[in-house]
Amino acid sequence: MYRKTWMEIDLDAISENIKTIKAVCGKRLIAVLKADAYGCGDIQVAKTVMEAGASMIAVSSLDEAMMLRHQGYSGELLILGATDPSDIPVLVENGISVTAYSTKWVKGVTSKNCGGLKVHLKVETGMNRIGFKDIDELKKAKGLLMLRGCSLDGIFTHFAKADTDAEMTMKQYERFAQAVKAMDYPFRWIHCDNSDASLSFRDPLSNACRIGIAMYGISAFSHDLKPALGLYTRTFMVKKLAPGEPIGYGSTYVTSGDEIIATAPIGYADGFIRANQGRYVLVDGTPAEVVGRVCMDQVMLKLPEYKSENALVEIFGKNIPIEKMAAELNTIPYEIMCLISGRVTRVYIKNGTRAEEANERLSAKAI
Ligand SMILES: *Cc1c(COP(=O)(O)O)cnc(C)c1O
Repeated sequence: MYRKTWMEIDLDAISENIKTIKAVCGKRLIAVLKADAYGCGDIQVAKTVMEAGASMIAVSSLDEAMMLRHQGYSGELLILGATDPSDIPVLVENGISVTAYSTKWVKGVTSKNCGGLKVHLKVETGMNRIGFKDIDELKKAKGLLMLRGCSLDGIFTHFAKADTDAEMTMKQYERFAQAVKAMDYPFRWIHCDNSDASLSFRDPLSNACRIGIAMYGISAFSHDLKPALGLYTRTFMVKKLAPGEPIGYGSTYVTSGDEIIATAPIGYADGFIRANQGRYVLVDGTPAEVVGRVCMDQVMLKLPEYKSENALVEIFGKNIPIEKMAAELNTIPYEIMCLISGRVTRVYIKNGTRAEEANERLSAKAI
């Protein structure tokens, strides 16, 4: 790492969280590592969660699945989103399971040579995103897939409000249970619980939980999970300004007195979005306001007292929970995590030490 802007990912905390979640839900775990493990680095997180006792990894697309295969992950792997029937050879060759989400998709797949393709049926129960709503249609799809030699590995649904609405979750669960019963099939994988459902909802039917955000210590239902993430940078210029000095593009901030302004190398190209203007971060532990517009690569911070350059800036982490930052930005931790760009070095903590640094830019290969 040359530029001092980094995201810390505590693999020890993730490992502990996986064990805690597994103990609370009492089932096998499917770790959802879509979007490069919510921006944390899919292979590093994959290794950690499998070592900690997860049984399968789920991603959103074949591209993400192949990213894991190319990096050496050879275990169970499920694509939760759309796949194209023309990619069946790649899916079968790489032992990647897919989601059957509509009659049209099933017809597309079964019109090709799909023998050996591993499939999880998706039941629509309240998201209206993807999946079969009609049980008869689902039955027909199951029959067709079996006839054509696909392997029916699982059945699942997804909850829309597990964080806030237990009644709705129960309704969705009941619809799911009905569908599973109607299939009358010994699925190896029956799964419906996302992170918040895994930590708050007891369901007697499923045999695996499908968790993402909770492994990073983030949940509406605390079960002694450990926060695993932090985003940091360091100031590289500090100056004293007289009253009336404009700061940044558009001069949206003007000093009202003698002010100490620090500049730090993080901006919207790192995922530190412009809406952060006016919020507070910590500079060597002291709250400092983001003043002026956030630039692409840099940000200006108003320090309450002089601190020399190279001071540690905490964007979120041990002292500013990512949940607090998300609430202030009117968003959710997922979005903040996923927006942290490839330019930000990922620093992995393992056995209490900085075990590895990963930076897309620095590992780019010659073309
Ligand atoms: C993203 C996703 C999950 C994981 O959700 P968390 O809230 O992060 O636990 C589970 N299942 C599906 C289908 C998803 O898309």
